[in-house]
Amino acid sequence: MSDKTLEETRKFAAMVAAKQGWVVNPDEEFTASLAEGLTTNYNRYGYYLCPCRDSDGSRETDKDLICPCAYSWKDIEEHGHCFCALYLSKSFAAGGKSPGGIPDRRFAK
Ligand code: SF4
Repeated sequence: MSDKTLEETRKFAAMVAAKQGWVVNPDEEFTASLAEGLTTNYNRYGYYLCPCRDSDGSRETDKDLICPCAYSWKDIEEHGHCFCALYLSKSFAAGGKSPGGIPDRRFAK
C-alpha cells in the first residue's frame, strides 16, 4: 500500500464532490484539517476512514465509515452537509450558512 499525500486526498475529496453533485466545504482551514485527518487515516488503516470517527478495528467493521460514508447522502439531503461537514449540498453552500453539529446517524435507531 502506498501512502497518500495531502494533495492526493484533496483531489480525492474534490472528485467525490464532483461525482455526487456536492461541494467541498469552502472553509479552507477547516477542509485542510479534515483532509489531513483523512490522509493520516488512509496511511494508518489503508482506507479513507472518516476523520471524525474512530475505527472499529477493521475495514469490514469500518466499511460504513469509509469516505464518503454510508450516512453522507442522507445527512447532506437532510442537513445540507455530512457529519464532518467536509461535503455540502450545493444549495447549502449557496446559502452561505456555516454547518452546525448534527447527530451521528450511525448510532440513530
Ligand atoms: S462524514 Fe463526511 S468526511 Fe466523514 S466519512 Fe462521511 S462523507 Fe466523509
